[in-house]
Amino acid sequence: MSVRTRFAPSPTGFMHVGGVRTALYSWLYARKHGGQFILRIEDTDKGREVEGSIGHIMECLKWLGIEWDEGTDVGGPHEPYLQSARLETYRTYAKRLIDAGFAYPDPYTEEEVEAFRQKAEEEKRPFLYRDHRPENAGEWDGTRPLRFKTPIIKRYEWDDAIRGPLSAGEEALDDFILIKGDGYPTYNFAHVVDDIEMEITHVMRGEEFISSTPKFLSLYDALEEKPPVFATMPVILGENGQKKLSKRDGAKDLLEYRDEGYLPEAMVNFLALLGWNPGTDQEIFGIPELVALFELDRVQKSGARFDEEKLLFVNREHMRLLTDEEFINRGKFVVPDPERLRKALPLLKERSHTLGEARSMLDGELSCLFTAPNLLPVMLVAKEPTGRAGLTRSALERALALVESMPEDVSAEAVKEAIMPLADEEEVLGKGGRGGVLWPLRYALSGSERSPDPFSLIYILGPAESAARIRSALASLSDILG
Ligand code: GLU
Repeated sequence: MSVRTRFAPSPTGFMHVGGVRTALYSWLYARKHGGQFILRIEDTDKGREVEGSIGHIMECLKWLGIEWDEGTDVGGPHEPYLQSARLETYRTYAKRLIDAGFAYPDPYTEEEVEAFRQKAEEEKRPFLYRDHRPENAGEWDGTRPLRFKTPIIKRYEWDDAIRGPLSAGEEALDDFILIKGDGYPTYNFAHVVDDIEMEITHVMRGEEFISSTPKFLSLYDALEEKPPVFATMPVILGENGQKKLSKRDGAKDLLEYRDEGYLPEAMVNFLALLGWNPGTDQEIFGIPELVALFELDRVQKSGARFDEEKLLFVNREHMRLLTDEEFINRGKFVVPDPERLRKALPLLKERSHTLGEARSMLDGELSCLFTAPNLLPVMLVAKEPTGRAGLTRSALERALALVESMPEDVSAEAVKEAIMPLADEEEVLGKGGRGGVLWPLRYALSGSERSPDPFSLIYILGPAESAARIRSALASLSDILG
């Protein structure tokens, strides 16, 4: 039988890492086994629905390259894939249960239920609907809630593909609602019906569903259907590795990561490792490699720590794998001079962890690559060693002469070979060292204290622009030194 997995989000808000990781593991598992991955939207709780979430969910999955084989937009053999459009199917299953004696219309008013509840409280016993099953509830006309008549009250045991043997007891088993008074099914009922109808073989979801699993299993029993394999995902823990991930420490909208310039393949790599590893030390994976290696028996039972530093590391590693062309195209950098950007790529790749960081460098500490700086003349002499008055001017003049003699297509290495001896001479003199030469040159070229080294600057700016900047630094030196 072919593997069929599904991601079944409720459209109640944005996607965060936990949701996306569930989708990713389901998708990886289906791809690994040559099966299908289905996107089903569970929109039966109309009160909690948030407008725009369905589009948002799809955008997140598409960004990561988690493509679905069947779903609301692409259709498929079991359409529709939107639960609110499947009410007829739930009614058919409800009738099956009624006919088999496993469902009854709830005859009570709110006041009556409240009275039962109070009585149970007075008698210090739990309130259970199944203690109040009506003798003859009559026909179900669709206007009253339909309840499940739980057939067997027992402790259920099952094998979870990740956690091994699990069990949960009768406390979960009460006559829960199958279809509400508004005609919509409950999650408990709808997802079981759909997993049967859509021939789902493996269900991956969070551990909050373990305690309700006896409800689902008793429904499968009553319907005489075989349940799928359940695989309970590890909890995602916050940075400190203790409590569950909260909004503050990373449970944010996944698309924010996209907007901050994380690469989707790095996010997939990071999420895959958030609770799974292939049994080796390897940390950087391409998506096809993940598909080949992924297995449920290597998903951990214990919580997985969400480590933002690791995400940055993984992203940086993936950025380094990009060719120059890809880096430029995906970075969407807006610069006046593409040729200088191209020459600055090694620097950008070296210094940034995300494309967003690279973008802000081009607007910030690297903006000098595109705009001539406004110099503060005193800064030029800020590092002139005592006893070496005049060094700044002579260093700039000598550097200028060298730069003027360089060809326009000079290489980064040739720039360094030409200029470095000037600084080495100062080093030999031992008065303040190379900085006496390199600092004013760097400042003349960049106007900034936090800029790349002067060789890289000359290479990127090109000799003509570099010479112009050095000349104007010399002019401003004359303004203060005469
Ligand atoms: N709609 C449910 C949720 O978003 C799906 C749970 C499941 O995968 O069964 O929590």
